[in-house]
Amino acid sequence: MSDLPAAQAPRLLSLIPPMTQLNVPYPSTAYLTGFLRSRGIAASQADLALALLLELFSPDGLRQIEQRVQAVPMKKRSASLHCFIENFERYLATVTPAVAFLQGRDPSIGHRICGRQFLPEGPRFAALDNYVDDDNGDPLAWAFGSLGVQDRARHLATLYLDDLADVLRDAVDSRFEFVRYAESLARSQPTFEPLARALAAAPTLVDSTLEKLTLDAVDRSNPTIVLLSVPFPGSVYAAFRMAQAIKAKYPAIVTVLGGGWVNTELRQLKEARVFDYFDYVTLDDGERPLLALLDHLAGQRPRLNLVRTYARVDGQVRYFNSSEPDVPFAEVGTPTWDGLPLDRYLSLLDMLNPMHRLWSDGRWNKLTVAHGCYWKKCSFCDVSLDYIGRYDGAPAALLVDRIETIIAETGQTGFHFVDEAAPPKALKALADELHKRNRAISWWGNIRFEKSFTPELCNQLADSGCIAVSGGLEVASDRLLKLMQKGVSVDQVARVTRAFSEAGILVHAYLMYGFPTQTVQDTVDALEYVRQLFAEGCIQSGFFHRFACTVHSPVGLNPGDYGIKLKPLPPISFASNDVEFFDPTGVDHDRLGKALNKALYNYMHGIGLDEDVRAWFDQRVPKPRVGRNFIARALQAGH
Ligand code: SF4
Repeated sequence: MSDLPAAQAPRLLSLIPPMTQLNVPYPSTAYLTGFLRSRGIAASQADLALALLLELFSPDGLRQIEQRVQAVPMKKRSASLHCFIENFERYLATVTPAVAFLQGRDPSIGHRICGRQFLPEGPRFAALDNYVDDDNGDPLAWAFGSLGVQDRARHLATLYLDDLADVLRDAVDSRFEFVRYAESLARSQPTFEPLARALAAAPTLVDSTLEKLTLDAVDRSNPTIVLLSVPFPGSVYAAFRMAQAIKAKYPAIVTVLGGGWVNTELRQLKEARVFDYFDYVTLDDGERPLLALLDHLAGQRPRLNLVRTYARVDGQVRYFNSSEPDVPFAEVGTPTWDGLPLDRYLSLLDMLNPMHRLWSDGRWNKLTVAHGCYWKKCSFCDVSLDYIGRYDGAPAALLVDRIETIIAETGQTGFHFVDEAAPPKALKALADELHKRNRAISWWGNIRFEKSFTPELCNQLADSGCIAVSGGLEVASDRLLKLMQKGVSVDQVARVTRAFSEAGILVHAYLMYGFPTQTVQDTVDALEYVRQLFAEGCIQSGFFHRFACTVHSPVGLNPGDYGIKLKPLPPISFASNDVEFFDPTGVDHDRLGKALNKALYNYMHGIGLDEDVRAWFDQRVPKPRVGRNFIARALQAGH
């Protein structure tokens, strides 16, 4: 294990490993860097997810990819590879302008992109055939109207990059996807074995490019400590590859692993080989563990007094946790994006779902209104973990100070509040403070559809810059909402969402299927409610998630209370999160899920809103028990 000489002042470098989102930096390094600097500690950051993509999707990158494609026998080439080889010169000529266009640096090329003669069109463009043609046979008119050159061009350029990502996957590295890399090696993987084997294998072009970028970033900032923050399982393998490269060239650099995936999945870590790559692994919010670690590395704190930190001692994994309070939310400082190339992020437009569009398109400053969730009761949610279960707010004046600092730094006035559920009281106070300072911003974020969002408050939030909200309706069924401890009912959701919509705020509903004891009848009824919510103008966007049972949720902790039995987990020495279960109802939720998604996709485009919901299913399902005017009546009752 590396320890710093006592006298050396630490220099920290926080890295975002691939793959994460590409339209804005994932916020973890911005938070950490802002916090460390607020304490006078030298800190810098780099986003290697973006850097990797820009390197691979450049003329030089494409030439290297082409060599790999040429090595694939003709018979084994996918349609993507054939198209790439046939149009290789055009890909070389168009990749730089297409990327610059998506970065917003070269808008005029949008006209050529829209003409559909400029970018080569591979298999991904077949998706356009699924769109409904307008009277002139134009499929994009349906999605973007007759104007909107920039939007159309962004969608086409995104399909073009999707094609290139498929080429990379088919010829270079089958584990590569736009938003995740080698995810299966880390998602709920009970042992380190698959990841260890992948890390011992010869590097692919993706790996070797990433290694080079990692060492370049290290050489630029000459850190004594490198922090790798892994938000999702799809960025874990890359983080280990990066640490491997750092340890091989600079064994004295202390490497630390943390982030959302670690906080969720590594709570039972026993695998000593993890520490061939990382000296320390920290759990939950990084601020306090890092301060303790810096003290320890400076020789001012015994190892025993580290905070929520794993280390390898005599070949064994040990967990150290002197329980010290976390740094209060009011004292974590303001995130900083200093050092991240904000003008190089890509505004992709691949989903026509309006809320997904906000996620992947545009540059939103990410900020939280509070730490954790003020409700922390939903039975499917990881409420036993710190990032949900520890609620801690900050005064509105401080939040608006942070907002103003961020605007001054980035020049951007759009904010995405990334809270799990921003509290209505705090949002109201925020709106009051923004009004008091006459500060114009736009913002969107997650909330709970609870009663305190009255029409007056929704209007006030719209005035303060709110353009969209998302919230969980989950399974639209009062029986299941109660079992979930969601704390809302269907008619209440109808009234609240309508109030937001009438205030001009886009509403997206998180929907769920496959919850324990959910019957086919429940599913049909839930879809009927959803149909009515769209038809009545309460919601404009939604997404159906399949319920997954996690070991940290109330369902996973007390399965008997929800009428299910967990399948036994194998012995765990590495990651753990999802757990399979037996549900005595025996419903084929996968099959039902296809119908739900099809219906929702159409509802979002205003199609099929008058049809009997049974028409979406490819099997006989019972008639909905819900009155056809249930939501309309609930809305009237609220007036
Ligand atoms: S699902 Fe959302 S509202 Fe419910 S406990 Fe989790 S974070 Fe809070």
